[in-house]
Amino acid sequence: MSSDVHTRRLPADDLSRNFEEVIPPYTEQEAVTEAGRCLFCYDAPCIRACPTHIDIPSFIKKIASSNKRGSARVILASNPLGLTCARVCPVEQLCEGDCVLGAHHKPIAIGRLQRHATDWLVGSDESPFTPGAPNGKKVAVVGTGPAGLACAITLRQLGYDVTCYEAKAKPGGLDTFGIVSFREPVAIALAEAAFAERAGVKFVLGTRVGKDVPVDQLLADFDAVFIGAGLGQVPKLGIEGEDLPQVLDALQFIERTKVEPLDSIPIGRRVAVIGAGNTAIDAATASKRLGAEEVSIIYRRSLAEMPAYAFEYDFAKMDGVIFRWLTAPVRILGENGQVTGLECMRMKLGEPGVDGRAKPVAIEGSTFTMPVDMVIKAVGQEGTFEWLKDLGLESRGGRFVIGADGSTGHPKVWSAGDCAGEGGAEATVVAVVEAGKRAAHGIDARLGGPTARARGNGEARILGAPIPLRAASASPAYVQQGVHQS
Ligand code: SF4
Repeated sequence: MSSDVHTRRLPADDLSRNFEEVIPPYTEQEAVTEAGRCLFCYDAPCIRACPTHIDIPSFIKKIASSNKRGSARVILASNPLGLTCARVCPVEQLCEGDCVLGAHHKPIAIGRLQRHATDWLVGSDESPFTPGAPNGKKVAVVGTGPAGLACAITLRQLGYDVTCYEAKAKPGGLDTFGIVSFREPVAIALAEAAFAERAGVKFVLGTRVGKDVPVDQLLADFDAVFIGAGLGQVPKLGIEGEDLPQVLDALQFIERTKVEPLDSIPIGRRVAVIGAGNTAIDAATASKRLGAEEVSIIYRRSLAEMPAYAFEYDFAKMDGVIFRWLTAPVRILGENGQVTGLECMRMKLGEPGVDGRAKPVAIEGSTFTMPVDMVIKAVGQEGTFEWLKDLGLESRGGRFVIGADGSTGHPKVWSAGDCAGEGGAEATVVAVVEAGKRAAHGIDARLGGPTARARGNGEARILGAPIPLRAASASPAYVQQGVHQS
């Protein structure tokens, strides 16, 4: 049987249209009109629902008077990755979900307004972040995804000399390589890294810490080291046929769609995606948009246990992705080195496991075969941190154990992001940004803070204005813990 995996399943124009951002930007008039609906609530619930505590009514008020610069300043003072978060935040579960207008009317479109307020920075020569007065201390940041960049920018605002180490040739981590272009184009993620660079953050790209630079050297050369490395790979399924060439890792597949010409990426006619998290949805929708005729998500539990956000699910359904619930892959079938099918088994839900979710149980005699040409694995993420083993960092479930301020058991090492804490790969980007900020303040407190120093004296600025004190006090828990530990 010949392979039905090809490039150019669609004309070039269709391919490029399919990978353009699906949510169009607001026009100025649309933004001003939407901003005009906001009630500018006192003690606004939308602020409390935002993990980075953006002063949402304040930035919306500035849009209403066409003051995009002032609006961006408010956003970036709390969330240094405000452009990314405007696109990828599950706003229905966060700020928009808590908007008082949601109960009887439509909630304010906070995400789209945030995008309107900040997008003008892309392609401009603005330096939205101004560094704090130099304090003579140096910090190395390993990884330039959302946690690393948020930590680096915050530290720079506090006056640190910051050097980011990135294994890939471009900065941005997940935002650059791991989120499909139709949700976040590469240019947005690179712009955010460029803002950090303009503030004086140094980038050492194409350099893997632990291979090209020993971590011991960083510990000797810097006052503190922040680990914000991504997990980077999908675990093995552990089933027969997994090594066939048309069995792909979802992360690598999505990365190809972001960095390679779309008409050079082969795609099957019938694709099965294993898993039902946000990465699985991205892989499935990208497959459809590359021209796959039939794309199925295979998930061993039901819709109720699906880890993907509801809006991702709706989006995938609109793209024509088929969801096969209570179905588990048993083996991948092949002929002459080509994937020809996926043998699956029907499941039922049993007793809850240790994570509280119902355990899937195989139904005997329910095996069936789906004809497919390509299988994409999206069953979580794992990282290899052998290079850190000598530091004796405690880990649980493959992630570093950290304190509320990102501290680890090592006095010079902090961590946040996918590699640390409980959130893991399905943690929201905005939560990871906040964790990166917290770690920066934890480092500052340990290295001789107080952490609010640079904010308080007005040295650090966002788009020319001092960082407001309330942004520094928005998460008192981590400031307290940092001071307590110093
Ligand atoms: Fe505006 Fe809604 Fe926030 Fe109130 S809750 S300030 S209406 S966005």
